[in-house]
Amino acid sequence: MILGTRHMIGVYPTDHEVSKMAFKLSIYPWVHNARYNGETWKEEYIEQKHLTPEEEEALDDEAHLTLVNERNNFPHLPLVNYTTQYGLGCFEGLKAYPQPDGSLKMFRPERNCARMSSSMKGLRMPPIDENLLFEGIRETVQRNAALGFTPRYDTSWETDFWQSGAAVYIRTFAYSESGIGINLSKTPWVITVCTTVSAYFVPGKNEAVTSDRIRATPHGTGWIKTAANYVTSILAKTEAIEEGYMEAIFLDATTRENIEEGSSCNFFALFPGKQLITPALHDTILPGITRDSIITLAKEKGLEVIESDLPVSKVLEEAVECFVTGTAAGITPLGSLTHKGRKRGFSSLDKDSLSMDLLKELKGIQYGGVMDRFDWMTEV
Ligand SMILES: *Cc1c(COP(=O)(O)O)cnc(C)c1O
Repeated sequence: MILGTRHMIGVYPTDHEVSKMAFKLSIYPWVHNARYNGETWKEEYIEQKHLTPEEEEALDDEAHLTLVNERNNFPHLPLVNYTTQYGLGCFEGLKAYPQPDGSLKMFRPERNCARMSSSMKGLRMPPIDENLLFEGIRETVQRNAALGFTPRYDTSWETDFWQSGAAVYIRTFAYSESGIGINLSKTPWVITVCTTVSAYFVPGKNEAVTSDRIRATPHGTGWIKTAANYVTSILAKTEAIEEGYMEAIFLDATTRENIEEGSSCNFFALFPGKQLITPALHDTILPGITRDSIITLAKEKGLEVIESDLPVSKVLEEAVECFVTGTAAGITPLGSLTHKGRKRGFSSLDKDSLSMDLLKELKGIQYGGVMDRFDWMTEV
């Protein structure tokens, strides 16, 4: 065996074969890279190899894949570190929405910057400077848009209340320095990349099932947007899909009686008397920004919003609508919930449901079709 050569080539699938197996991630050229040096945060904008978006589209599959892989195989980061080995990392996901006037607006980005900082504190990393991150995100989206890397507003999105709308997805994540011992990260990077996301919403029955798995335990990391939490979420969601459902719903670790969250989204249930209940925030619930926005919109609509325990038995007996919230889809109305073989159907997907009403309101604000009366949108 000759060390240092790729003598095994031919045994592993080629990138081209992998692309046929998996989703092709195409990140935009400009990347924001911040790093803590023990005293302060230093930042740089990196322009990775690219053509124009049109030229990239025109490339054959193989050439396109080589280019986008090069952008995703971001160089000069340590392979062996606390993030890749132990899941000691956290991230944010937010979107910039194309507007009818051709501009791009981000939804409540200052909240994501604050949560990133709080997640890093939760992992005992030096927290990112929120203002530096905010400006880094804004500028990265702007630089990519200047190169043409951004979706353009399409009036056809209005026909389904922007459920088919595309957006810039912005992913910020912390990445530790080299290390293999069990340790905290003291000089992490915080990197921001962007990519286009199109319709996440798949019209259908949107059925959910409770999972036997436990996502978060008291005194654990459930409230932190950490990579480590996602292993259980991914397993539970995969199992739900294998059983013919769309989403897995987690119950609390202690009593196994209360609903906590979906696989990576917050949970809401509507009861007769215009009562909307969502699990109260505590250390096993991720404080979703969509969750917070929906609470505001629902109160404005005259609903009584209650943040409390939410027994699964109460949902199975009394709930008329249920939905989950998160940046990926905004609101996903659920058609039913099944728990221990017991199923309850909801009217969440009906045209005149409250879930659909809140969905239209939220998407409308995000895509500039409804007045932004809470000042949630920030121009890029
Ligand atoms: C990100 C996330 C959410 C949703 O948060 P948003 O800010 O609304 O995108 C909900 N639950 C979990 C576990 C999450 O990681």
